[in-house]
Amino acid sequence: MNPLARDLSVAFPKLRARDDAADRVAYARDMWPRHHLAVRAGHPAEHRPGAIVWPTSTDDVARLVRWARSRGVALVPFGAGSGVCAGVLPRGDVVIVDLKRMGRIRTLDPRTPLVEVEAGHMGVPLERALGRSGFTLGHFPSSILCSTVGGWVATRSAGQCSGAYGKIEDMVVALECVTGCGDVVALARRTSAPDLVPLVVGSEGTMAIVTSATLRLHPAPTSRGFGAWSFPTTRHGWDSVRAMFQEGLRPAVARLYDPFDAMLARHAGARAGTSPARPRAPGMGGAALRAILRRPGAINELLHSNVVGRALGGATLLVVFESADASMPPLAVDRARTICESRRGSWLGEAPARGWLERRYSVSYRQAPIFANGAFVDTMEVAARWSKLGDLYEGVRRALGPDVVVTAHFSHAYPDGCCIYFSFAGSASPELVAKIGWDAACEATYDRAWRSALGAAIEAGGTLSHHHGVGRSKAPRLPAALGAGVDVVRALMRAFDPGGILNPGALVPTTMSTSTSMSTSTSTSTSTPASTNASTNANLLIDRESLLARMDGMTDLSDAEGWLNEAGLTLDLSLPSGPLTVAAWLGRGAPGARDRLLDPVDQLVAGLDATLADGRSLSLHPAPRRAVGPDLTALFVGGHGRFGRIDAVWLRVHRRDVLRPTAPPFVRDRDPAPNAGERALLDAIARGL
Ligand SMILES: Cc1cc2nc3c(=O)[nH]c(=O)nc-3n(C[C@H](O)[C@H](O)[C@H](O)COP(=O)(O)OP(=O)(O)OC[C@H]3O[C@@H](n4cnc5c(N)ncnc54)[C@H](O)[C@@H]3O)c2cc1C
Repeated sequence: MNPLARDLSVAFPKLRARDDAADRVAYARDMWPRHHLAVRAGHPAEHRPGAIVWPTSTDDVARLVRWARSRGVALVPFGAGSGVCAGVLPRGDVVIVDLKRMGRIRTLDPRTPLVEVEAGHMGVPLERALGRSGFTLGHFPSSILCSTVGGWVATRSAGQCSGAYGKIEDMVVALECVTGCGDVVALARRTSAPDLVPLVVGSEGTMAIVTSATLRLHPAPTSRGFGAWSFPTTRHGWDSVRAMFQEGLRPAVARLYDPFDAMLARHAGARAGTSPARPRAPGMGGAALRAILRRPGAINELLHSNVVGRALGGATLLVVFESADASMPPLAVDRARTICESRRGSWLGEAPARGWLERRYSVSYRQAPIFANGAFVDTMEVAARWSKLGDLYEGVRRALGPDVVVTAHFSHAYPDGCCIYFSFAGSASPELVAKIGWDAACEATYDRAWRSALGAAIEAGGTLSHHHGVGRSKAPRLPAALGAGVDVVRALMRAFDPGGILNPGALVPTTMSTSTSMSTSTSTSTSTPASTNASTNANLLIDRESLLARMDGMTDLSDAEGWLNEAGLTLDLSLPSGPLTVAAWLGRGAPGARDRLLDPVDQLVAGLDATLADGRSLSLHPAPRRAVGPDLTALFVGGHGRFGRIDAVWLRVHRRDVLRPTAPPFVRDRDPAPNAGERALLDAIARGL
């Protein structure tokens, strides 16, 4: 045993702790595809941890953290290792804390309905257990077979049915976690005082180890409705998805494939229907693949032209509606049909969406043959408000185009925007192979593709990530995405984990990014009005396409509502009596706003500009959802000005002629008073900011 593992065994004789070679190799990495390239190049596990430990209770975790803090040992929380951004990348002096032995359902209350589940519970058995009681969490990431509740919370995960149930952050109502000081804290969501839950969600193991989560449940669906359409262009398709969400429809699944991706999806479906997919050995197929991927520029140009797009059959949209109320899905499909057909969608019947549901998890596990054939493949999920979606789609494709062959589908839509999921495949750039060899050239091409694509996403007003998170692979880009927000994230880390022992190196860059051009573009995208459809007065700017309005913090709330009404829009709230600025109203937790749990897909605040207590400016550009660390808006909404002042805010606005959807009832104190642990953390944040 190495000294670290020996120390652990002495301090915790009843805990399972290991340092044997097989375990250290198994825990040396997550599923970041860049690791697969290293494995292929003969470097399988360069980041082996010193030891792995499997706690079985919250008390074990607390004692472990206190032990680690007293010795300055770093801990890396570990779920199932399915992360794809190098969130897990240990060193020899690090202990991995695998939570999977904490996998109990503590309580399942059918009256509320809520489940409290330990962080190490795996996805599939959780859904099965809930299903037996007549419920669903509604969270179905493609990795549900190989990911845990704690990992979902830590990375701000999104499931395939996010269109009805939201992302994981919309399901968490309380967390139990152990801070970097070894304190066990219970965090609850609330409205009229600061809410620490959105700060820990997305913190990627750097602030606290999540030991359990209390999650909101829905009645398990008993009925589904399916629909599919083809569109002459991808834009016609996303206009239809936008209209559905803005007209109050909530398809659990809405997946729009661009023409090339649609063709690949049909091909995969046809293969799955005839014979089981067998990975092909390297050989002629591999040579052909490498030859194709050597000319990505020409291939992208060809595949993404309108003529070829039409020849490929156009873009394809699949939707699935589901409910415990059997009358809902057929009516919703009818409404979706009207929307799509008025936007040049041609009805393809139910079969494509039914087929997708049957094979819903298979496509994510088909990467190995591509790596085995000397190439690489990866995915990038970024989001933008609707008015920026075209820039995001074109910008990222243009940036990736010279290096890799790129396709895209659009999933995870919201009333104010949508996520684009780019898939790309590449191989070594020919000019590099001669100089540095195949494997190093592949790695260099892969890195260049990612660098350009993330730069383009931010330039276009998109997010750095929608649901995979940041890890270490995107951490150098965080300053471009968050600006001064990176310092705020660091301050939060110090407040929760003053010794810096939790997953050091993840989420924030170890050095500040030197990319000044990207920082500039971030602030540009923050303040630029939506180009084509923005209307404005001095204090209010409406992005009608995204149904968002930017207003000055000092605007009177009733004035803002009046101006919106003139444009046929509303904030849809019970206006408090008397004058009240938008900033003060938000600082009090937006009293009178509709309960956010009534529609998990919607959000009140899409972005904001704030001045921190010490005078620094923070700018969070509007986005439907992001997975770039803690949700910093939580410091201000309900914050009563303690952490800073809201200067301007992007709020969701609603069409006055549209009835807002309402999810099944849900019982929970929306505003519990902060407990002593929460108050202590809030004080620590205030001191550190
Ligand atoms: C084939 C495939 C498909 C995927 N599809 C999706 C998808 O559809 N949607 C999606 O959102 N993601 C998807 N992912 C990404 C990945 O599954 C998610 O990020 C998932 O949430 C990670 O969970 P995990 O338990 O494996 O976490 P890990 O990979 O073990 O950890 C991820 C990060 O969370 C931290 N962490 C883990 N547990 C805890 C804890 N208890 N407390 C504090 N920090 C913790 C780790 O330190 C690390 O930083 C996919 C990945 C693969 C390989």
